[in-house]
Amino acid sequence: MSESVLDEHIYPRLPVFLQNAACWVYGKKESRARFGKLFDQYLRSLMDSEKWSASEIEAYRDEKLRGLIRHAYDHVPYYRNRWKALKIAPNDIRSRRDLEKLPILTKEDVRQNLDQLLADGVSPRDVIFKHTSGTTGKALHFYVSRDSVAFQWAVWWRHRLRFGLQPGAWHANFTGKRVVPLAQQSPPYWRWNRPMRQALLNMHHLTPWKIGSVVEFLNAHSFEFYSGYPSIIHALALTAREAGLKLTSRPRAVVTGAENVLDFQRRDIAEFTGALLTDQYGCSEGCGNASHCPNLVYHEDFEFGILEGAERDPGDPARSILCTGFSSPAFPFIRYEVGDAGVWQGEADGCSCGRQSRVLLRIEGRKDDYVITPEGARIMRFDYIFKDALNVRESQVVQRHLGGVVVRVLRRPAYSQKDEEQIRRQFQLWISPALAVDFEYVDEIERERNGKFRAVVSCLSPRAA
Ligand SMILES: [Zn+2]
Repeated sequence: MSESVLDEHIYPRLPVFLQNAACWVYGKKESRARFGKLFDQYLRSLMDSEKWSASEIEAYRDEKLRGLIRHAYDHVPYYRNRWKALKIAPNDIRSRRDLEKLPILTKEDVRQNLDQLLADGVSPRDVIFKHTSGTTGKALHFYVSRDSVAFQWAVWWRHRLRFGLQPGAWHANFTGKRVVPLAQQSPPYWRWNRPMRQALLNMHHLTPWKIGSVVEFLNAHSFEFYSGYPSIIHALALTAREAGLKLTSRPRAVVTGAENVLDFQRRDIAEFTGALLTDQYGCSEGCGNASHCPNLVYHEDFEFGILEGAERDPGDPARSILCTGFSSPAFPFIRYEVGDAGVWQGEADGCSCGRQSRVLLRIEGRKDDYVITPEGARIMRFDYIFKDALNVRESQVVQRHLGGVVVRVLRRPAYSQKDEEQIRRQFQLWISPALAVDFEYVDEIERERNGKFRAVVSCLSPRAA
């Protein structure tokens, strides 16, 4: 659901059938954006290009790259100015290897140059405004070209097709969005987005009290697959297992994305669903993607953009992932540092599936703990809270006792009491109305010994209590 004022105030008070109607309207609109005429065209061409040889891939990629660099230099003020100052001309970038001549684009660069990164002459009709909060709990605003939504979904559906799932297959989507209002105390704890063939279940109701109804619902419907964040599907598996519940109607696959899948999550989800878990790696900025092949190996989706690795520490095989996206010329991300790290396979080693696109052996995203709400839901995702908290430099959510959390905040100069109230309110809206939220203002949020930032820290024991 969108997060407009209307939704926030009116949607939760609607009767269930009208909430389903609202989901239908949303689904209709969203499927037009995702699965319009362009989607079929993109998907057909992606089904063809995944059979290309290494040299065909290279030729395609380098041509796309040269076009993008020329476009960015001619039409995007930020790149033109920055590259000119470094005396770099478009002709200096002929292939992927030349990319390292260009400076890295950080999240902070995007934050400070939102207008300069928009291409000349782009009308608001051609772009979609997006907001997200990255791995360090700080807001990021940006735009994407309208057509890139269909391209991204075609890339995602190509991944699903590799596992025998067809567009139009009914599935259960596990989400952090408040599709079923937090205050609801009796079933149904799901809503229907029929245009997109989805049942929507939100993380807030995966609690010991409600899990029986949720599993009963899943068993009563033959969903072809489950999709969503691994942390939310894991909360389902764990809560159901603790209640001694079993899935009798098993999905064919569980499709995850947007988060690192941790080993214990993979194990618990496989045990509960009995299904294959397949993952794809992407970023909400829509500038790079990698998807599992049937061997459960990540292949770069080279048609969508280039994933490069920049060295973090000498000797560390994991390199910081930089994305250069091809499909959003209105607001191009070039060598964008996502904040995740990956380990690439040597170029000479292939994958036995036959695909020639580059292989990532491992992707390391964030590794976080859960917060347990007073209702008993395990929550790992706090993106919704900080999306618009532009005065927060960094934040970390710490749970020291059941019933409450402490938000540790590194402030920007304009931060005020109003921001604190706003964040507390977001916690009550998105996570739990009963959760106590305290604040701690710090000058630094310490990194782990390995340099990793943890957005959520639980001091409850054992881990993921
Ligand atoms: Zn493969």
